[in-house]
Amino acid sequence: MRFLLILLIPVMLFSAWQFARREENENRLALVASEVALRDVEVSCPGFWTRLVEITPNAGWVDFDEHGRPTDKTSLSATTCRGLERVWRRDQRSFTCLIGGGCDQDTVRAVHGIVTLAHESWHLRGFLDEGQTQCYAIQTTERVALRLGIPLADAHLIALRVAADDVHAPASEYHSPRCRPGGAFDLHPETPDWPTG
Ligand SMILES: [Zn+2]
Repeated sequence: MRFLLILLIPVMLFSAWQFARREENENRLALVASEVALRDVEVSCPGFWTRLVEITPNAGWVDFDEHGRPTDKTSLSATTCRGLERVWRRDQRSFTCLIGGGCDQDTVRAVHGIVTLAHESWHLRGFLDEGQTQCYAIQTTERVALRLGIPLADAHLIALRVAADDVHAPASEYHSPRCRPGGAFDLHPETPDWPTG
């Protein structure tokens, strides 16, 4: 009995610590998502034990009802959650490799996480069309990066890189020809700046 307890206590402590860390991350990300969605929304990350068996191909998703209305929550994959957590906990300190290339996997995942959070937030705002949602996400990337605590210069760099990559993206439902400066999905067609103005 005593042996079992000795074994069980660390597992329980570990689970409690994991739970607290996850909740902290979810709450931090929900603040950013709510700002983009213009309403209070939740972010859900998989727990430690779920993570071990996660096989989702999606970086994130939002459910819509039969009337095309989004629910109040986005679920993010473990990779997305981890990438974003690294950003706001300041484990991911520099993005200057985006200029010269040769970024490591952690940096690539962090950037992908930021775009995913922006994308799902626009779904939560009520947009269903993937091309339109992704185009708005590209234009909101800098703001999301800033809200996660990334300095302005790096946030701007990330946004420029994401927009540049999108120009070369193959045609798909996520890539609309209307996503360009002055195009139908330009959030600020009155300014020539892209993607942040
Ligand atoms: Zn989507």
